[in-house]
Amino acid sequence: MKVLFVTSEIYPFAKTGGLADVSSALPKYLLQKGVEVISVMPLYSAIDREKYGLKKCDFSFEVVLNHHIYPCEIYHQGNVYFIGIHSLFDRDSLYGEYEDNGVRFGVFAYAVMELSQRLHHSWDVLHLNDWQSALIAYLAKTRYKMEAKIILTIHNLAFQGIFPKELLDDLEIGWDAFTMHRFEFFDKINFLKGAIAYSDHVVAASPQYAKEIQTVQFGCRLDSFIRNNRHKLSGILNGIDTSEFDPQNDPYVFQKYYDVPSEEKTFNKIHLLKELGLDHPERPLFVFIGRLAWQKGVSAILEALPAMAKMQINVIILGSGERYYDESFASMSQGYSNIATRIGYDEALARKIYAGGDFLLMPSVYEPCGLNQMIAMAYGCVPIVRSTGGLADTVAPLCDEPFPLESGVGIVFDELDRYSFLVAICQALALYANSERYGALIQHNRRIDSGWSVRADAYLSLYHEGEIR
Ligand code: ADP
Repeated sequence: MKVLFVTSEIYPFAKTGGLADVSSALPKYLLQKGVEVISVMPLYSAIDREKYGLKKCDFSFEVVLNHHIYPCEIYHQGNVYFIGIHSLFDRDSLYGEYEDNGVRFGVFAYAVMELSQRLHHSWDVLHLNDWQSALIAYLAKTRYKMEAKIILTIHNLAFQGIFPKELLDDLEIGWDAFTMHRFEFFDKINFLKGAIAYSDHVVAASPQYAKEIQTVQFGCRLDSFIRNNRHKLSGILNGIDTSEFDPQNDPYVFQKYYDVPSEEKTFNKIHLLKELGLDHPERPLFVFIGRLAWQKGVSAILEALPAMAKMQINVIILGSGERYYDESFASMSQGYSNIATRIGYDEALARKIYAGGDFLLMPSVYEPCGLNQMIAMAYGCVPIVRSTGGLADTVAPLCDEPFPLESGVGIVFDELDRYSFLVAICQALALYANSERYGALIQHNRRIDSGWSVRADAYLSLYHEGEIR
């Protein structure tokens, strides 16, 4: 079976969030299961070609659209191919607020189609991810008339790729595709909507998220369209790369460890606190790692911080995102001796925080899948989550032992307000005070398999579905 996996970011080459982790791990596991997977992503200027040993392919081509010529250089590193289009991807950030984002990823889609023809002629599956690769579904079904099965995974419905309809001409998309059943969206063009229309199967990043995106509350104005397409919708939980996120082999942590609780885990906490200028390692350490964005429920954290500052706890926040939150968190933590904030993206520090933390805060407004809670559980850090999307699917609420065999356990709350969040913190304090129970819980979570080996099978069945064997 030959699968072309198209994505806009892959760890370690370029990463802004969970999509990069998934795009790195899932193809790896599929390869182990005998699937021939080739991944493709844009060659952003931020990618260090030397460091990652990218090799230039001995062919190149041009995409010509609406009298514009886009020269494409192709690089590769093992099974990952990179499409270099200087005028479109030599930018400061991967997505940014660039006015020509529609052209950037539209041309990328054409280039992927061209590359796909040069690499093979008989793809079984095109696996697309999010709006950045969405146009490929249209091109494959119409212009290229490919027989490959098209699968689209939605990692976050909030990002749809919506552009003025004039882009249809720039990208030479026929106006016959500008209908309410295809690309048209409030008189604009919506890449993700088009991809849902043209794909054979649509996957949401967790079963719960597959349900939520059919509701007005979480459907981001596509809920009725998704309900109309629910016959081809399913939810498959993302996993984490257990060889990458493993405290026993993690090169970034202060001291590697297997057991939790353990002296080694405590060693990590002590050194993390020291590095960030915090005292009192005997106190519970609450951590947050992620995008400082509305979606992540960071308002609840921000509002609760003054109360948390008065508790016998430590708090570490690592993240960046929306300017308002970056600034608010940076200034908020300055006045408190038990709160440390680092604004930015820092892979090494993130690993140290997972290893040193006692509780991970994830009060997300919505969460398609979420990887942080799974990473935290693997590192012996208890997740405190709002019951939504993949968080609801991966973290069962703490109740009496024995803990559920197949699921992680944490502190789960429902309502999206500061009070419910603070009640959850108090529950965490009570749990931490009972060191035996806390120890049993982190031990249980550490044993939970959040890896891809089983979850990739769900994709594998989808790839094979309807196939005559
Ligand atoms: P998202 O919605 O941002 O994709 P996920 O939970 O799916 O969120 O994945 C987040 C991934 O990004 C995890 O690997 C997490 O550790 C990492 N991450 C997020 N923010 C940061 C940061 N500021 N520094 C380092 N790693 C981060």
